[in-house]
Amino acid sequence: MNGHMAGVGEAPSAGSFEHGVQIIDGDKEFNANMNEYLQVEHVAEAGFNYHIISVFGSQSTGKSTLLNNLFGTEFSVMSETARQQTTKGIWMSKNKRIESAGTKMADNILVMDVEGTDGRERGEDQDFERKSALFALATSEVLLVNIWEHQVGLYQGANMGLLKTVFEVNLQLFLKDKKSTPRSLLFFVIRDHLGTTPLANLRNTLIQDLTKIWSSISKPQGLENSRIEDYFDFGFAALPHKILQGDKFVSEVATLGSRFTTGHRGKSGNKDDDELQGGVFLPEYHRRIPADGFSMYAEGIWDQIVNNKDLDLPTQQELLAQFRCDEIAREVLISFDVVITPLEEKQAEATRFGKPTVLPDLGATGSKARTEVLKSFESQASRYHKGVFTRKRQELESKVDTRMKALYQGQLSAAHKAGVVAFSEAVSNKVKAGQKAGGGYEFAEIVASEKKKTLDIFKVEAQSLAMQGVPWTNFKTQYMLFEQELDEVSGKLRKEEMRRLATRVERWVKSRLGEAIGLEFNKLGSGRGGTGAPEEGEKPATEKDLWDRIWNVFTGIVKEAEVRFAERAKSFDASDEEVDVGMWRLRRKSWVALREKVDEEVMEGNILMKLRENFEDKFRYDEAGVPRIWRPTDDIEGIYTKARESTLKLIPLLSRFRLASTYAPPDLVSFIGTQPGGVEAGDEEDLPPIGGVDEDEGKSLEEETTVLSESKRQDLVVRFKKTADGVFVEAKRGALGGVTQ
Ligand code: GDP
Ligand code: MG
Repeated sequence: MNGHMAGVGEAPSAGSFEHGVQIIDGDKEFNANMNEYLQVEHVAEAGFNYHIISVFGSQSTGKSTLLNNLFGTEFSVMSETARQQTTKGIWMSKNKRIESAGTKMADNILVMDVEGTDGRERGEDQDFERKSALFALATSEVLLVNIWEHQVGLYQGANMGLLKTVFEVNLQLFLKDKKSTPRSLLFFVIRDHLGTTPLANLRNTLIQDLTKIWSSISKPQGLENSRIEDYFDFGFAALPHKILQGDKFVSEVATLGSRFTTGHRGKSGNKDDDELQGGVFLPEYHRRIPADGFSMYAEGIWDQIVNNKDLDLPTQQELLAQFRCDEIAREVLISFDVVITPLEEKQAEATRFGKPTVLPDLGATGSKARTEVLKSFESQASRYHKGVFTRKRQELESKVDTRMKALYQGQLSAAHKAGVVAFSEAVSNKVKAGQKAGGGYEFAEIVASEKKKTLDIFKVEAQSLAMQGVPWTNFKTQYMLFEQELDEVSGKLRKEEMRRLATRVERWVKSRLGEAIGLEFNKLGSGRGGTGAPEEGEKPATEKDLWDRIWNVFTGIVKEAEVRFAERAKSFDASDEEVDVGMWRLRRKSWVALREKVDEEVMEGNILMKLRENFEDKFRYDEAGVPRIWRPTDDIEGIYTKARESTLKLIPLLSRFRLASTYAPPDLVSFIGTQPGGVEAGDEEDLPPIGGVDEDEGKSLEEETTVLSESKRQDLVVRFKKTADGVFVEAKRGALGGVTQ
């Protein structure tokens, strides 16, 4: 039937588990192969869907034989002929039967067979008996108590001694675990049942004995009044003699096997197995150790037992949970790393090379990896101690999120940098294109549309990173910072655009001044103060109001320029302040341009020519503008002197920018106005100081409006006189010549 004997005394080699696995050997060592066994048997992955049964009873009462027949296991059985001693230890094997007597048995039943000398009868090693009982109680849902029928009622018998041990040990065990107090089923299997005494009678006798034993054991403080029913349910079965009634034995064992299914408690109480509905495995018997942590738990328990430490199951369960949760976290992080580490590396490398890169599909990839790592942790670890699990889950989440956060921040920082560059380039390119096409572009519109485009791209990226229920993935702040920087960049670009506009307007002012001021100076060439007839409504020009005319023309041009500038600047959303600054700069630059133009006009050669023309006009033409034909009788000296003096009067007039109306320089201070608030330090570098306006420059308005210095004036007088003299001599000579001819 069991067909094996060879296993006696031999430990199974790792990987060959035909007789199950010896989890505790004769030297009380825990066998590290247990977990491997659970994996080979596919129990490790079963979660809570497994059951543990242990067997108790005196030596050689057919325990192993019972288990092998019930569960198809191959535990060592003492030879009927040799009667030799089996080795001590605890063996475990998975149930090999799928069904019994037509009933499907529970999944993943693990059976533990305790072997040992009958210490009680031989007076030795009760220590191992006690230790194995403790171990069985700490782990098993069902404890099979194997007993001969003829032992029932023998209160002083060996079995009763064993049960006493079990009860004492149980109280000790659950002293620390008052909260959960797991129950167990004590399932009596009465062997060699003759059938003359009905099972019900045997049961009553046993219950009486058990109650007696319970009352006789010394109970720890606080548990003096506890009842046996607080800890145990009872089950009973009887089997006929295996050898004498072989067939009946087989069929009864099959019936007994059919009870090893899951069950639940009946309505009326818990006294004994009459109350059990369905099978023997009640949920409350389960120790709630996940299968993948069972061997570790068992090892911890055994370690405590062997070292005679007080067993503290709740602490053991917490330790197990910590260890397993850490282990599971490490396992699930491997798949997370496979996805996330390459992205982290890519990002780090891009940053190192100063080329922040936006990783494609990061949001989808990241959220999938995060969900998966947490989900697979939960599915495995949530079976362990709730408090520990919750804490470890949080640890894992924060570990994962620390990395995800860095990755996402890097992503948005890259998107930010790339966005700023793209925005600034796009605006510049469009402005350039607009300029090329003749300047017909609207700066403000370009900025607005490019800003919207750039913001949208950023928004899409930020939204793709957001995860529901994960507050740190709300990147509103980053979005706002990005928008802020775009506005700063827009400001800079607008400033550049303002500069370009200013340059254009200045150029326009210069060219207008060139023409208009040149015209005014040209009028000097005509000694009567003007060329040709004055325009209708225009006051005839006189030499005396040269500067008034220049000032009027100048302020008129500047006014026009200011209007152009302001209108254009407003069109690209420049602030009033920026416009004010621009116009202030424009007035200053225009004044400088005017001074340059005036300087050009009064350059030695130019002004001398103008004076000569002026003089010749007065000398060579009469009041009616008719050229004079000199005759010897003419008062050439008189006309010459008058004309020369008249022209000489121009030199002091030209020397100073004085308005005839006020006999004073123009009011430059009011013209330029006070410096507006928006001028930044360094902005004025290209603005030369203006005397009388920039007080601390040490140059007065007087100096600013001095066109010819004293020495230049004198020099000009001398040169002009020489020129005039030349004209005079020529005229004189002409007059004489004319007479002679
Ligand atoms: P264990 O030490 O309790 O595990 O007992 P074993 O299963 O090794 O069996 C001890 C001896 O009892 C063996 O020689 C078996 O053949 C014998 N045996 C097994 N089942 C029965 C039974 O139902 N009745 C009797 N009388 N002997 C049995
Ligand atoms: Mg045995």
